[in-house]
Amino acid sequence: MINVIRGKDFDPNFLRIEDSKIKEIEKNVEFIIEEVKTKGDLALYDFSLRYDNYDSRKYGFKINVPDIDLSTDFAVAIKVMIERVKNYYMHEYKNSWFYKDGESIFGQLVVPVDSVLLYVPGGRASYPSTVVMGLVPAIIAGVKNLYVTTPPSKRDDKNLLYTLRILGIKELYLLGGAHAISAFAYGTESIPKVDMIIGPGNLYVALAKKKVFGDVNIDGIFGPSEVLVWVNYDKDLNLRKVVCDFLAQLEHSPYDRGWIIVSENLVYDLLELIKKEVEDSERGDILKESLKNSFLIIEENEKNAINLINQIGPEHLEIIDPFGERYIPYIKNAGAIFINHSSIFGDFIAGPSHILPTGGSAKFSSGLSVNSFLKRISFVKLSTQDQKILAKYGSTIAREEGFYMHEKSLRNYGEE
Ligand code: NAD
Repeated sequence: MINVIRGKDFDPNFLRIEDSKIKEIEKNVEFIIEEVKTKGDLALYDFSLRYDNYDSRKYGFKINVPDIDLSTDFAVAIKVMIERVKNYYMHEYKNSWFYKDGESIFGQLVVPVDSVLLYVPGGRASYPSTVVMGLVPAIIAGVKNLYVTTPPSKRDDKNLLYTLRILGIKELYLLGGAHAISAFAYGTESIPKVDMIIGPGNLYVALAKKKVFGDVNIDGIFGPSEVLVWVNYDKDLNLRKVVCDFLAQLEHSPYDRGWIIVSENLVYDLLELIKKEVEDSERGDILKESLKNSFLIIEENEKNAINLINQIGPEHLEIIDPFGERYIPYIKNAGAIFINHSSIFGDFIAGPSHILPTGGSAKFSSGLSVNSFLKRISFVKLSTQDQKILAKYGSTIAREEGFYMHEKSLRNYGEE
């Protein structure tokens, strides 16, 4: 069951999954990455069999996405989702810029990375929505080569295949876990090396992405789901809605975690409702596990509550307060903010991507967006006159830093 604690006793280190557990998984992930790096396809055959019970030697690493046409409620809904996500990201600023200073020109070219792998998780659930949340911003950014991989158990997932097809993806790779990440980070005989790897996943996936960062770019550390619900309003409060929103983010995997910040008078009712919803849920076993990682924090002071939020830096922050916008200037760390029962809309249909920073990484990173795929290249064209003026200052700095050729080269442009 969920841990109950007073705000003053809460330590953000309670956030951390036990170091020993992480270390054990980390060691395994490092081994998997090295094996794939050095043995290529041979290692992939082995890991697919071991972790996904899939014979890739026999059935291959990828399938063509079939030309299926669905006429189901899902097909209608996913198209609405795609339109909404497109509409949201069309607003994002992504243009190159230039300015003239005298006869000189300065600017910044904004250029998309060339190739991207989207990891679509698939161990415990199906995630066609992640395909939309990952690919739409990449398409708007102008990424040319898009690859998608998912654990082999999802190869017949009609909804996933349909979503890929309508987004123009022709092939689906069938690799999951850390070995998928290593394969696309370094390339093998059958798998292309990419420039960037995006997408959420379990701890194996998240730690593997962290490990290969530097050899490829990654979107961020987007691991097990998190939600922090701050109940800051108790007039006409629908506690059952609050509990459903909260538990919804905890049903992906046993590593998910959440926090509810609430006043003392609501604790008993909340605990009863959580118990009931867990009992009724088809994913009750996962919820029971993720609730063990979660906290109900008793805190009635507004300032303290905001402090706790910023210390935790949750993936989803839900503020239950009809006028919750007034806290926006004070919230520094969160993947996404939802006012009044809306984090659940954020998962599928509101607009912004649900691929968001977890594990406190919202303190220094952002969720997936168009800008995640864009590089900035600075541009300079100096006029002859500016070269003459600036050479003097540049060569002084070069000399002080001890760079002989830099100084000499700059002097060539100086006043005679
Ligand atoms: P997954 O695809 O991430 O992981 C499944 C794969 O892990 C398997 O295919 C297997 O290859 C590998 N694996 C399993 N056990 C292993 C072991 N012992 N050693 C090595 N590899 C192993 O799918 P999942 O497990 O369902 O996890 C999905 C996660 O993604 C959930 O935690 C969910 O909360 C999270 N998620 C996060 C976001 C976000 O934006 N932060 C969005 C959606 C989902």
